[in-house]
Amino acid sequence: MNRLLLLVIALFVIFIPRTFSQASKLDRQVAITIDDLPAGMADRLPASDITAMTTKLLGTLRDQKIPVVGFVNEKKLYKPGEVDERIKALQMWLDYGFELGNHTFSHMSLNQRELKDWEDDVVQGESVTRMLLTQRKMKLRYFRHPYLDTGRDLETRRKAEEFLTQRGYRIAPITLDGWDWAFAGIYEDAKKRNDTALQQQIVKDYLAYHDAVFAYSEQQSAKLVGYEPKQILLLHASNLEADHIGELLDVLRKRGYRFIPLQDALSDSAYSLPDTYVGEEGTGWIDHWAITQGKIPQGAPVFPQWVIERSKELRLSTGQVSAEPQY
Ligand SMILES: [Zn+2]
Repeated sequence: MNRLLLLVIALFVIFIPRTFSQASKLDRQVAITIDDLPAGMADRLPASDITAMTTKLLGTLRDQKIPVVGFVNEKKLYKPGEVDERIKALQMWLDYGFELGNHTFSHMSLNQRELKDWEDDVVQGESVTRMLLTQRKMKLRYFRHPYLDTGRDLETRRKAEEFLTQRGYRIAPITLDGWDWAFAGIYEDAKKRNDTALQQQIVKDYLAYHDAVFAYSEQQSAKLVGYEPKQILLLHASNLEADHIGELLDVLRKRGYRFIPLQDALSDSAYSLPDTYVGEEGTGWIDHWAITQGKIPQGAPVFPQWVIERSKELRLSTGQVSAEPQY
């Protein structure tokens, strides 16, 4: 064999696999959003715990340069003697370079209340957040529906959307949701009792369930949209995320994701698809698109039953606003 031929073969061996592997590597994109600020369980945690949780969560996100929008329930700020510290925890989000949006004052469901009451709750939820944003020459521009409840009938849904648009909001949809709030509730209890074995079990299932949800949502969205759109992940401010969001980000990286600002994700034309979803139960936008197209979503991964049972034992799914299913 002559040298030239050998060289050609050598070049093939070196470059062909790399070209193939690059071509097969998916360029997935996701925007991270975190709801229920300053903390999902703000009524159960002292301000010092909220500050510690926020510091840890934001530290990881800043170190890894992840763009994030956090959605606020201002009612959670008004605990006597703690208002200043709770507002400071909120301010940290902006100090660290993140953005804040409105999630209503009291985490009010549009499906459970009159439109007028709900609109008042949206307005009441703007005061502190807008003040903090204005100090940094930023605008309050994003809104996230509590429980993802967008209205029980189309007229209410559209009126609410018009109201939000008129107040300068862009609605922040979601496409990826692994119910982290449910894991977070029982994690909080395990952490308080120093039950490390249970914490590990919770984290293992939290990561595995999210991975399964990501796979399912990628498949579903590709079928409905025609390609995998820029996804939007819903998470909640909690000690579970403060302690373990880094591992969840690794799960996303392994699936080929890079992290983009919410504004970029919303530029995807998927978010302009026809969407006439209405229902008692709030749900993500992949379901919205499916149901609008007359397709019933099937094959979703099953949420670990033991987490539901444990939440019931701890009475986490009843009672206070912030202890109810969070979305
Ligand atoms: Zn929420």
